[in-house]
Amino acid sequence: MHAVVLAKLIGVLWEGPQNLLGSMLLLTERAIGSVVRIENEDGRLFVQSRMTAVSLGHFVFWSRRENRYFPLDENTRQHEFGHTFQSRLLGPLYLPLVGVPSSARVLYAVAYREMTGRRWRGYFDGYPENWADTLGGVARKRIPTSVRVIEET
Ligand SMILES: [Zn+2]
Repeated sequence: MHAVVLAKLIGVLWEGPQNLLGSMLLLTERAIGSVVRIENEDGRLFVQSRMTAVSLGHFVFWSRRENRYFPLDENTRQHEFGHTFQSRLLGPLYLPLVGVPSSARVLYAVAYREMTGRRWRGYFDGYPENWADTLGGVARKRIPTSVRVIEET
């Protein structure tokens, strides 16, 4: 077997669990018509979605669409790209060490919004999101905690 092909195969298997989930998500997004555009860049598949922002191994889903819980914007693509370095580094530990705490933060953000009526602004300030920002080169404008949001849609 050619060395390059072998190296790619090892990479695909190393990130196996997230690649499996990513490919299933891509099939689902295609089936429901939420894929806007797919680009091959930096050895990853960037899927611009109407609804999803998640990085699963080879499959980098990102969205510009603002939602009730998260201010998704141009930074989202680079943020999700940042997670791909975590995936390469951690391999099969990516889902337990990044996916689980990240999902916990999402759940907290949803609960916070529903209970307070405001968005939780701390989502990107802690592990593993701040690390993904750093790896993806995202510099966010931080709102000081002394600023109180009175109204938000
Ligand atoms: Zn993230």
